[in-house]
Amino acid sequence: MDRLTCPVSMAGVTADPDTAQTPQNAQTAGDVVTMDKLVSLAKRRGFVFPSSEIYGGLGSSYDYGHYGVLLKNNVKAQWWRAMVQERDDIVALDSAIIQSPRTWEASGHVQSFTDPLVDCRTCKLRFRADRLDEEECGRKPSKHPGETPDCDLTGARDFNLLFETTIGPVREQGSTVYLRPETAQGIFLNFKHYLQFARKKPPFGIAQVGKSFRNEITTGNFIFRTREFEQMEMEFFVSPAAAETWFEYWLAERMRWYLELGIRENHLRLRAHDNDELSHYSSATDDIEYLFPIGWQELEGIANRGDYDLRQHSLHSGDDLSYFDTETRTRYIPHVIEPAAGVDRAMLAFLADAYDEDEIEGESRTVLRLHPAVAPVKVAVLPLVRKDGQPELAREVHGQLRGVLQAEYDEGGAIGRRYRRQDEIGTPWAVTIDHQSLEDRTVTVRDRDTLAQIRIAIDDLKPELQRRLDEPWRSPKLRGARS
Ligand code: ATP
Repeated sequence: MDRLTCPVSMAGVTADPDTAQTPQNAQTAGDVVTMDKLVSLAKRRGFVFPSSEIYGGLGSSYDYGHYGVLLKNNVKAQWWRAMVQERDDIVALDSAIIQSPRTWEASGHVQSFTDPLVDCRTCKLRFRADRLDEEECGRKPSKHPGETPDCDLTGARDFNLLFETTIGPVREQGSTVYLRPETAQGIFLNFKHYLQFARKKPPFGIAQVGKSFRNEITTGNFIFRTREFEQMEMEFFVSPAAAETWFEYWLAERMRWYLELGIRENHLRLRAHDNDELSHYSSATDDIEYLFPIGWQELEGIANRGDYDLRQHSLHSGDDLSYFDTETRTRYIPHVIEPAAGVDRAMLAFLADAYDEDEIEGESRTVLRLHPAVAPVKVAVLPLVRKDGQPELAREVHGQLRGVLQAEYDEGGAIGRRYRRQDEIGTPWAVTIDHQSLEDRTVTVRDRDTLAQIRIAIDDLKPELQRRLDEPWRSPKLRGARS
C-alpha cells in the first residue's frame, strides 16, 4: 500500500538512469531464463493462459491451468505453514472482498490510492509517470516514453486505482462500493474480534490470503503486474516500544522463507525505502526484491506502519481499537508490522528461479528446478512399456502414492518423452516400473536434477519420497545441475 502517498507533482518526468532496470542488467551469468521463455512454457504446459482468449483476450488478465493451480496452492500452503502452522502467535482470517466503503475512506485509499499518470499527446497512450523507464512508447522503433523526439508527454496527474461497483438491483440507486485493493484492511476491521474471541494480545498477528484488485495504469510482464491478483498479508500487532525489534525480526523471517524454499540468495535482496518513498505513516519499509528477467523488482513489502491503521479506523468508526495491557496497566493503540507479498509474483519468481536448460545425450531439455515443496507434482509413475502387466503394477503404485502426495500416472509415448514432460513441469522424481518390477517388486526412482536413478522396493517408496521432501534443498542452478 506504499502508493497511498506516491509523489504526485511529476510534470515532465523522465526516467532516472540510475534506477532504470534494463534486461541487460537483469541477466546473470549462465542464467538462460527470459520472460518470453517463461510465458511460452507456462502456456505450453498448462500453468497460465491469457484470459478470455476465444474473445480476443483481455489485457493482462490470466487464467491458471492445472499445474498453475497446484503450484500456486503450494506457494500459499507454504506461507500458511510458516505463518500459522509453525507458530502460536498468528491466527487466520478470510474477510470479504467487498467491505463497507467507509473502510477505504478511513484507510486513505479513496482520497489518495493513486499513481501519477501521464498522457502522450502524440501516440495517445497513457503511462505511469514514475515507471517510464519500464514502459514502451507507442512509436517505432519502441523506446521509453519521453525518449523519442515525437513524444509529447503531459504533466502527471493523480489516477485512483480503486475499482468501483454498485450494490443493489438498481444501479442508479445503489451505493458505491469498492473491490478491495489489498487484504490488509479486512484484518484491521476484525482486530477487536481477535482480542475478544481468540483471546489474543500483542504481540500477535492475523494472516490472510486472497484476491485484491487495482486498476493499474499499466500492467504487463506476464503475471508480474495485473489488475486482479492474490496477496498473502499478515498484520502483526505489537506495543509501540517493541515495533522496531519486530520489524527487524520480520525482515529476517521473510527473507528466510524465500531462501528455504530454494530461491537463490544471489537473486534476492532487501532494499530499504528512501525517506521520499515512505508512506507518511510508515517509519520504515523494506522491499524484498527478486532479480526477475526484467531486473530487480519488488516481491514483497515489509512495513512498520505505526498505529496509523487502528487509529484511523477508531476515528472513523467510533469504535475504540486500543488495547489495555493488564500487566503494565497501560493503554495503547497497537503498532503494526506488515509483511505483504503477492502470490502471483512469488509464483513468477519461483518459475524464473527454477527455469533451466541443459543437454541429455545430445538432446536439449527444458527443466524447472523447483523446490520439491512447491513443485506442482511430486512424483510421476511411469510404466516402461504399455504391456506385460507393467501398467497394472504402475497403477497400483500410483494408487499408493497419491494418498500422501501429488502423484501423476503417465503411460503414453516413449519413456524419454515422458521424462522430458515431467522435467518441464518440475516434477522432482519419476518412478519407473519395468520388467524387473514384476519379478521382485522393485522400481527405479529418477532424480530430475542429477538424473541419478536408484532401485528401491515398492514398499520403501513412500518413506523414501517423504524423506526427500523433508530434506533441506538448494537450487542445483547454484552448483551446476549434474555435479
Ligand atoms: P508495486 O510498487 O510493485 O506496484 P506495491 O508497493 O504497490 O507494489 P504493495 O501494496 O506493497 O505493493 O502490495 C504487496 C505485494 O502485492 C507486492 O509486493 C506484490 O507482490 C503484490 N502486488 C501488488 N500489486 C500487484 C499487482 N498489480 N499485480 C500483482 N501483484 C501485485
